[in-house]
Amino acid sequence: MTGVSGSGKTTLILESLVPALEALTTGKALPNHVKAVTAEGIEHVKLIDATPIGINIRSTVATYANVHDELRKIYARTQDAKDRGRKASAFSYNTGELRCPVCDGTGSVSLDVQFLPDVDIPCPECRGSRYAKEAWQIRHMNRSGEALSLPELMALDVNTALGFCKDMKLVHSRLEVLQSLGLGYLTLGEETPSLSGGEAQRLKLASEMGRLQTDSVFVFDEPTIGLHPLDVQTLLRVFQTLIENGATVIVIEHDLDVIRNADYIIDMGPGGGEQGGRVVACGTPGEIQNNKDSITGTFL
Ligand SMILES: [Zn+2]
Repeated sequence: MTGVSGSGKTTLILESLVPALEALTTGKALPNHVKAVTAEGIEHVKLIDATPIGINIRSTVATYANVHDELRKIYARTQDAKDRGRKASAFSYNTGELRCPVCDGTGSVSLDVQFLPDVDIPCPECRGSRYAKEAWQIRHMNRSGEALSLPELMALDVNTALGFCKDMKLVHSRLEVLQSLGLGYLTLGEETPSLSGGEAQRLKLASEMGRLQTDSVFVFDEPTIGLHPLDVQTLLRVFQTLIENGATVIVIEHDLDVIRNADYIIDMGPGGGEQGGRVVACGTPGEIQNNKDSITGTFL
């Protein structure tokens, strides 16, 4: 979906198509201004935005990507854990017995400075790891003979953790998804509210990758805003993977690189506001380029 600001892209997609598809898939009435929508075989519409993931500092990359629960089970099976009677639940930094007693597993403490607003600093007891000292004494050894405790593993970035976790089938495949999303540099224990918009956007797709998506429509609203050009290339590869898995991907976009990579363009306009609201051109990037009515075409 292309077109100058105010040409009606948001109205058509976010305010009409998305709610209409949601109504269609849940058997509810269409929005009043939508006369009809046909979407054979579509069961899900998924709006992926760049808003931060949660305000809860207890949410980390590992918990969000569903690897932490699995790691807890793996650490509970170690001899170290059995000797101490520590079960999988003990390894939860939110509620487990192995969470840091000083920061209660949040990894940070509030510093009360007189006359100044409170300042959050890394917890001096666990140095931000969220775990009590005992957790360091419970180590898992992989088949190559490398041994790490869970807090040590949580301090690794995804790329490095992939090497240590190669014997852990489920964990390894989920970490590979993060790597394919261009998030290999993130630390497992990194809290999700601190991620940038682009990182949050891609992390939200972690559970969507590697599965058949023939019945899904994904909608992205200007996903490249604020992204580094390299991240735009990563995002284009992510779109391609979704499409190869059968998904329909709709992107509202101004970025010419992304527009050139589209299979089909719907260009709104011709101008903004009063001058907008019409579909002025649609077709392949080549067809839009040759369309004299399309302002987007002149830029392509
Ligand atoms: Zn602590």
